Amino acid sequence: MLIQDKVCIVTGAGSGIGRAIAIAFGREGGRVVVSDVDEKGGAGTVELLKQAGAAAGFVAADVSRAADCERLVKEAVSRFGRLDIACNNAGIGGDLAPAADYPLEGWDRVIGINLTGVFLCMKYQLPELVKTRGSIVNIASILGQVGFGNAPAYTAAKHGVLGLTKATALDYAAAGVRVNAIAPAFIHTPMISGLESDEATRSQLVALHPAGRLGTPEEVAELALWLASPRASFVTGSCYAVDGGYLAR
Ligand code: NAD
Repeated sequence: MLIQDKVCIVTGAGSGIGRAIAIAFGREGGRVVVSDVDEKGGAGTVELLKQAGAAAGFVAADVSRAADCERLVKEAVSRFGRLDIACNNAGIGGDLAPAADYPLEGWDRVIGINLTGVFLCMKYQLPELVKTRGSIVNIASILGQVGFGNAPAYTAAKHGVLGLTKATALDYAAAGVRVNAIAPAFIHTPMISGLESDEATRSQLVALHPAGRLGTPEEVAELALWLASPRASFVTGSCYAVDGGYLAR
């Protein structure tokens, strides 16, 4: 077991990549605090974890709200006694429009969840992770490294997550806390089901991936598990792509 008895928080764990990460953490012995704004999705993930024999609990939290992020960490520690691993995964796709047409509220919402949300989670997780010399995995995107048309807020937020990951890794390396990021390309999840439902758009997306297909949440989860685990003991401040070759062009 890679992370036997480690206490893990996964945000946005009620669906898609977050759910797959929570299940991978549970499979490898982690005690998993599943968090999401979607209580039904979160409860579904907890059920899957319990069926697989893992210790798990749900805490509802909106990562764009500081008080929720603080309460999430407090509840995790009060239920399981400590915090060893945090995976900050919650995110939204947001509106699709070029900058001049991008709605201001849409900008604030994407930045609030996808960037400020990661900051707020880390802000309250770090004091606990310093006690356990734990680790953080932030879910960014290939759009944290390259641009994508009609997605200025998402692209800016994910570039921000990479900067935030590096700065935080530097600040906490001496304390033994590792902070890394993952850059998935397009992954089959509800987030992109709208894009995938149109066959022409789906084919265009597939063509961006040299592997000739989109990725699966489980393929992202394997990397998150490795980065979170002691196997990655000398890895910090880095971003790894899971992208079927998208960024290699
Ligand atoms: P998803 O929509 O399947 O899951 C996202 C989860 O986050 C949902 O359960 C949702 O309820 C939750 N969430 C949304 N807003 C929240 C908030 N304010 N607070 C807490 N939880 C909230 O999407 P996914 O594809 O699994 O995305 C997970 C992460 O992976 C996101 O950060 C996304 O940007 C990133 N990502 C996804 C892809 C992709 O192609 N699917 C590619 C690169 C990166």
